[in-house]
Amino acid sequence: ALKKLPASNPQAIALKYVEDASKTTEAAHKPGSICGNCQFFTAATGACTLFAGFSVNTKGWCSAWAKKA
Ligand code: SF4
Repeated sequence: ALKKLPASNPQAIALKYVEDASKTTEAAHKPGSICGNCQFFTAATGACTLFAGFSVNTKGWCSAWAKKA
């Protein structure tokens, strides 16, 4: 299994990653956008293309979010 992405991960910080999308105060956050509906997320494993080797939270979010096609 993948390791959970630590909040202290430098890239997580750079991309304003949060485990709970409802808690972000980032203006870039669009209502309803979460890892679970991001094109970089793999639901089966929690993997994110941008954070190799880690899993992110389905209900998380970061500023690289892009709508799943
Ligand atoms: Fe979540 Fe998408 Fe950001 Fe990855 S790129 S952490 S799946 S919002």
